[in-house]
Amino acid sequence: MNSTSLEFARQLDTSDPLGKWRSEFWIPERENGLPEVYLVGNSLGLQPRRAAEFVQIELEKWQQLGVRGHFESDLPWMPYHEFLTQPMADLVGAQADEVVMMNGLTVNLHLMLATFYRPDRKRHKILIEEHAFPSDYQVAESQIKHHGFDPAESLIVANRAVGQATLETDTLCDLIRQQGESLAVVLLPGVQYYTGQVIDMAGVAEAAHSVGAIVGLDLAHAAGNVPLSLHDWNIDFAAWCSYKYLNSGPGSVAGCFVHRKHVTNPKLPRLAGWWGHDKQTRFEMKNHFQPIPTAEGWQLSNPPILSMAAVRASLSVFADVGGIAPLREKSLQLTAYFQQLLEQALGDQVNVITPTDPEQRGCQLSFQLIGVAGRSIQDQLESRGMMTDWREPNVIRAAPVPLYNSFEDVFRFVETLKVLM
Ligand SMILES: *Cc1c(COP(=O)(O)O)cnc(C)c1O
Repeated sequence: MNSTSLEFARQLDTSDPLGKWRSEFWIPERENGLPEVYLVGNSLGLQPRRAAEFVQIELEKWQQLGVRGHFESDLPWMPYHEFLTQPMADLVGAQADEVVMMNGLTVNLHLMLATFYRPDRKRHKILIEEHAFPSDYQVAESQIKHHGFDPAESLIVANRAVGQATLETDTLCDLIRQQGESLAVVLLPGVQYYTGQVIDMAGVAEAAHSVGAIVGLDLAHAAGNVPLSLHDWNIDFAAWCSYKYLNSGPGSVAGCFVHRKHVTNPKLPRLAGWWGHDKQTRFEMKNHFQPIPTAEGWQLSNPPILSMAAVRASLSVFADVGGIAPLREKSLQLTAYFQQLLEQALGDQVNVITPTDPEQRGCQLSFQLIGVAGRSIQDQLESRGMMTDWREPNVIRAAPVPLYNSFEDVFRFVETLKVLM
């Protein structure tokens, strides 16, 4: 069978052991009744069908129990966030006491830096990468200013080599060693949002630690996308959102990781709130703060139950599928197929800037369209139900997600792009 045919794509779907999970998700449809080819799960993951049921349970509890919902039923709200911890920890390669779901991603980065960025004259620099997500840049810059330091001196930006789209690990590690004792924190993405490159997280952590710096990760594009081993890689802290590959709904509650070696240290300075205080004595309403000796010790407020119900629904899908390993296996096939079709159909009309080495990428491919107005092609794709996302100046990002995208999705996308080109 011709490997560039629709039949072949359908054959791949038929023999895909994870293919059945697509029907567990709401796939947006167009007026013509056709499902969208939804390749923007890196922006907002689709809704698992069971999410409504999980949220409905909490709405009914609130209707029927009011405040007693905090303590009654088999899923009381008081410890509700704890029900998310183990399945979340499994997906990021952490121990349960290292993970908590709370706040938003950017908020969590600030909370982590409040603890781990304590600059003095000698050690005051934060290292980020050249194309850091604006929010991450703003976090680093404002933290530096907040402590009375000057970003011109204290913010170190890792650049790419001329003409290179990706960051070389060696270059990053050399820069880290070169900064030496002046470096306080290395703040990098696990998967770079623009290029889809997977950063060598363990390698960077080792280099950072060799100069006595802390390593923190933004896992917005990594969590639920690629296998992670935060504990074993010796990452100090990490934060991620749950609405991209974690399919937990727009603006849903985020994740935070603090390594075991830090969580048991009650002396670590932090911005505190009552939800981070020892659970046994929290309701004695005393002012003295005694942090929970886990990542929960960084919680501030009692968390949003309706949002966490959607997270719980989504994490239960990941658990039922068998975790990140089978998803990654399909993801490698799906993205390799995507790249192969793009090359066969469009040859040198596309320039893929995502690394071709599967180990160095997640599911996303980012590519430039050559010799055409990319923006207008993107608009036409969208009007035909092909959802991808456009990043200035000229990059289309498309993320086939192994949980709900099919090989046929990828086929239909490339066919449509070919016609438009
Ligand atoms: C999506 C994303 C964010 C978004 O931050 P929020 O606090 O969730 O709004 C931040 N950083 C990166 C790298 C992202 O991809």
